[in-house]
Amino acid sequence: MLGIEHPIVQGGMQWVGRAELCSAVSNAGALGILTALTQPSPEALSQEIARCRSMTDKPFAVNLTILPTIKPVPYEEYVDAIVQAGVGIVETAGRNPEPWMPQFKKAGITVIHKCTSIRHALKAEALGCDMVSVDGFECAGHPGEDDVTNLILLPLAARRLKIPFLASGGFGDGRGLAAALAMGADGINMGTRFMVTEEAPIHQKVKQRMVQASELDTALIFRTLRNTSRVFKNAVAEKVVEIEALPGETQFEEIAPLVKGVRGRELFESGDLDHGVWSAGMIIGLIDDIPSCKVLVERIVAEAEEIIAGRLQAMLGQN
Ligand code: NAD
Repeated sequence: MLGIEHPIVQGGMQWVGRAELCSAVSNAGALGILTALTQPSPEALSQEIARCRSMTDKPFAVNLTILPTIKPVPYEEYVDAIVQAGVGIVETAGRNPEPWMPQFKKAGITVIHKCTSIRHALKAEALGCDMVSVDGFECAGHPGEDDVTNLILLPLAARRLKIPFLASGGFGDGRGLAAALAMGADGINMGTRFMVTEEAPIHQKVKQRMVQASELDTALIFRTLRNTSRVFKNAVAEKVVEIEALPGETQFEEIAPLVKGVRGRELFESGDLDHGVWSAGMIIGLIDDIPSCKVLVERIVAEAEEIIAGRLQAMLGQN
C-alpha cells in the first residue's frame, strides 16, 4: 500500500521531520515523513516537499498534527499545500482528519491516521482512512490519556480493525519489529529511534544524551491539562511536572514559557540540553548507537528475520 521495501515508517516529529531525515529513511527502503508544522508557512512546506523530492525518488509522506498550539495554525492552507504538491501519503495525528478527508480522497492520497486508542482507530477506519498507526503509552510526544500499552492495544487492533495498521511507540529494534508483526501489525512506526541517527537534523549532543539515557529518562508533562506529552526528563521537564503537582489547577500560561516549541527547536540547534523540552519515548532505554538510517533499517529487518526464521521457527520443534 505504501510502496516501500521494509515495513518501517518514520514517525512525524516536530522540528526533526525535515528533508534530510525523511529522504534518508525513504532511501533506506522505509517510509520517511516530513512534518508539516515544522515549516513556518504552507509556502515553506511546498519548498520542503520539493527539496525532499530532489533528495529521493522513493515515496515519502507528510505529517499533519492537529493539537493545541500557542499560535493558531492555518490548517486549511497546509492541507492545500500538501494536496497541490502531489504528495501521495499523509499521516494525520492529534484530532480526527474528517474535515479534510474529502480533499485527501479526491486527490487519491493514502491517509494514515495516528491514534492512541481503539475507539479512535475504529473512528478513523469508519472515516475512510486507509491505515492507522496505533500509538501505545510508551510513545514519545502525545500518548493520549488512557495509558494503555502496546501489549494490549496491538492485539486489540488486530481483533477489531479491518484496515492495516502500524505499531507505534516503543519500537527501535528487530525484536520489536518481530513482536509487532506477531501481534498483528503490518509494520512499525518509529520516531525516537530515527532521531538518534546520523541524518537526523538535530545537535549531536542531543543524540549522545539519548544514547546514554535509560528507559527511566522520560517524563509526562501536561497531564493536568489533558494534553499529556512524553518528553526527555531534563531539568525543564522536571520543573513542569513540579509546577503541575502544586495544589490548584495549573494554567497553561504558567508553564508556556518553559515548554514553547520554539525553545525545543533552539535546543535541537544549539545542543543546550536544558533550554526547553523535547519529545522522547521509552525506547531511549534500548538505543545505544547513532547509525545511518540505512544501517539502522537493514539491521532491524535482519534481526527480525533472524528471530522469525531462527528462534521462533525452532520453537515449533522438529516434527
Ligand atoms: P507550541 O509551541 O504551540 O506548544 C508547545 C506545547 O504546548 C505543545 O505540545 C502543545 O500541544 C502544548 N500546548 C499549546 N497550547 C496549549 C494549551 N492551551 N493547553 C495545553 N497544551 C498546550 O507547539 P509546537 O512545539 O510548535 O508544535 C506544533 C504542534 O506539533 C503542536 O500541536 C504540538 O502538540 C505538536 N507536537 C507533536 C509532537 C508529537 O506528538 N510527536 C511533538 C511535538 C509537538
